[in-house]
Amino acid sequence: MAGLLGLWAVAGGAQALAAPEALGFRLGDHGQTTRIVLDLSEEAPYQVRRSLDRIAIDFPGLEWRLRAALPPRGLGLVKGVSREGAHTLVLSLSSPAKPAKVFYLAPGGGNSWRFVLDLEPASAAEVQKAARAEPSAKSAPAPSPAAKSSAKPNGKTASAPASPPQLKAIPVIAIDPGHGGIDPGAIGASGVYEKNITLAMARELKDRIEASGRFKAMLTRDRDVFLKLRDRVAKARAAGADLFISLHADAHNDLQLAGLSVYTLSEKASDAEAELLAEKENKADLIAGIDLSNEAPEVANILIDLAQRETMNLSASFAGRAVTELGHQVKLLSNTHRFAGFAVLKAPDVPSVLVELGYLSNPKEEQLLKTEAYRGKLATAVTKAVDAYFDQVRKAGTP
Ligand SMILES: [Zn+2]
Repeated sequence: MAGLLGLWAVAGGAQALAAPEALGFRLGDHGQTTRIVLDLSEEAPYQVRRSLDRIAIDFPGLEWRLRAALPPRGLGLVKGVSREGAHTLVLSLSSPAKPAKVFYLAPGGGNSWRFVLDLEPASAAEVQKAARAEPSAKSAPAPSPAAKSSAKPNGKTASAPASPPQLKAIPVIAIDPGHGGIDPGAIGASGVYEKNITLAMARELKDRIEASGRFKAMLTRDRDVFLKLRDRVAKARAAGADLFISLHADAHNDLQLAGLSVYTLSEKASDAEAELLAEKENKADLIAGIDLSNEAPEVANILIDLAQRETMNLSASFAGRAVTELGHQVKLLSNTHRFAGFAVLKAPDVPSVLVELGYLSNPKEEQLLKTEAYRGKLATAVTKAVDAYFDQVRKAGTP
């Protein structure tokens, strides 16, 4: 934790707590596609909820400072635009539509950050099916199974306690391969990069998790690209993740050190090693030269909201199962389940764990992690833990 606080002091202190602001809104009719553009002071996490006749986009923590009123009439597939509650933008639809693309454009050409959503026509069946698979936003009250109610006004602001989602028929597992692009992560005894090991492992884990047909898995990155820590979290939340698994592999001066460990979020690190590790992993953004001075508070502020307690309990529950399953397969570090202030584990409503697969500084463990067979053993064990965790959640009736 001390590490992260220190990092913020360097990055610009109080300024880091400024909320992102919505500055402008535009609609564009491009034939098949209707484009929605929201000008923002910075990138803000979002979640898209959809039903047959409307699409709601939640921007938790966003301040609305629009320079002009929202347009009184819609355009193309959009019949009307309105705000709902403190942080939600609602598009009522003139006919069923799907978000074909959702992305951010970086500032340029006199423009600030832009949130862009491209709508394309869809069949009613398609929309209903998608809405069933991806229920309503996590900040909304317990969602009804009916797709239509998923975007009803909830009147809650994002500062209201976020509760973990009701379990959906096909839970979504977000797999986050640590590091990437300009940030190689740890470098192994023979020169292997952590970012490549984590990506290989993530792909194998996705295949295994999806093999049963009981789960959907998504990767926060599927190529060698740099991603900010908060964007990893935002991507997982946008995909409606029910569980977030970040994959890493450490390096240490003690070349004998070996073994796997599983981390969950905590204000107070379980031990000095865990604290140092979190500090190291949290520096990924700095390595890539990202200016952190305008980051949103959810990453800047290490103090954990009470609303996160439930999520933390679930994270710990999954971590416990992962340790059990992995312990049957591979060597574990002592005190295998550890705690520390990892920025990438801070989604308030998605149970999250970080797995340090082993030590790349240990020549033997590095060789093992380079083989598909060894990673396969790890992936099978994590998949068993995913199965057991969701069985438990289902039995409990509530996650
Ligand atoms: Zn790492």
